[in-house]
Amino acid sequence: MSQVRLEQVTKSFGGVLVIPPLDLVIADKEFVVLVGPSGCGKTTTLRMIAGLEQATSGEIRIGDRDVTTLRPGLRNCSMVFQNYALYPHMTVAENIGYGMKVRGTPKADIDRAVAEAARILNLGAYLNRKPSALSGGQRQRVAIGRAIVRQPDVFLFDEPLSNLDAKLRIEMRTEIKLLHRRLQTTIVYVTHDQVEAMTMADRVVVMSQGRIEQAADPITLYELPKNLFVAAFIGAPSMNFIEGTLERGGDNLVFHADGGVAIPVPNGRAALVAEAIGQPVVLGIRPEHTMVADPSFPTVPLKIADIEPLGPHTLAIGKIGPAAFTAQVPAGTRIRPDDTISVPIDHEKMHFFLKSTGEAIG
Ligand code: ATP
Repeated sequence: MSQVRLEQVTKSFGGVLVIPPLDLVIADKEFVVLVGPSGCGKTTTLRMIAGLEQATSGEIRIGDRDVTTLRPGLRNCSMVFQNYALYPHMTVAENIGYGMKVRGTPKADIDRAVAEAARILNLGAYLNRKPSALSGGQRQRVAIGRAIVRQPDVFLFDEPLSNLDAKLRIEMRTEIKLLHRRLQTTIVYVTHDQVEAMTMADRVVVMSQGRIEQAADPITLYELPKNLFVAAFIGAPSMNFIEGTLERGGDNLVFHADGGVAIPVPNGRAALVAEAIGQPVVLGIRPEHTMVADPSFPTVPLKIADIEPLGPHTLAIGKIGPAAFTAQVPAGTRIRPDDTISVPIDHEKMHFFLKSTGEAIG
């Protein structure tokens, strides 16, 4: 059982509180990704689990053990770092087996474990090479191999793919996911890249300023962001936001954007957002929810400033009234900067947030 449990864990550096009381339970065998902007406290949280930072207060448990004050070597976690941290003078095999050697493991056992890790990670042909003779992706696999042979209760990954080029990052994403399926070990993985988080995690923990904004599976985060922060952070290109108010218009509810545009709220949503009538709200609509032209969809005028053809579709970037807005339009749509186009809004996919708190409504 290698559940990881953080209870009311805080961290201060020199009197500055960077992690206010944090509660987080990571289930046995779960792949959890901590994601958030630079400085939000992801690495600090990971390092507290590893024991590389001491929690200022609170309790950290791994399985049924209280590890809060245990030194790192006794927590049975393996950490993989962004910069690989390999020994340059050792071969791949020596790097992978080093930790076992230090602990006095018999050579035959080390050889067996190294061979098994090399097989899993496709490193068999490189065992006698030095790290300097490996590509970035191969070096990262050696670092993962070193973590595997320790047979940890928990794998901790700190931005392990940040130094790789985009193509290799995508390949390694898949490799790490396969590894998780194969080893069935709890993984806590830190990244600032929301796409990496969404594609890899069983559950994504979105952090900001040391706090958890939302922890949920990727699709829930995308479809039901709890607040403006999560809505803006998850998804690329980012969700569009238009400020305005909800008003009654006859039998219907209508969103009136500051600056003039009016968008009817579908009946199915009206009851849910009615609590916010008359209050300043923010409408959120993702760029990909502007493409399908259904005659029942309301349309809004988008004044185009720039166009990004991406192949499968094109992004039309501009403004709706005073609000910046990016719409996804079909590839090959004939549009030019300064055109004003009519953009359909999939109103079933609209999000509403209270402007005062940023919390989602409806
Ligand atoms: P990044 O993606 O940039 O690595 P992060 O989300 O991992 O960011 P942390 O490295 O955990 O953020 O840092 C959280 C906060 O704690 C930041 O404000 C940082 O400046 C501060 N911090 C981290 N380590 C220390 C330290 N050793 N001494 C003082 N402040 C620190």
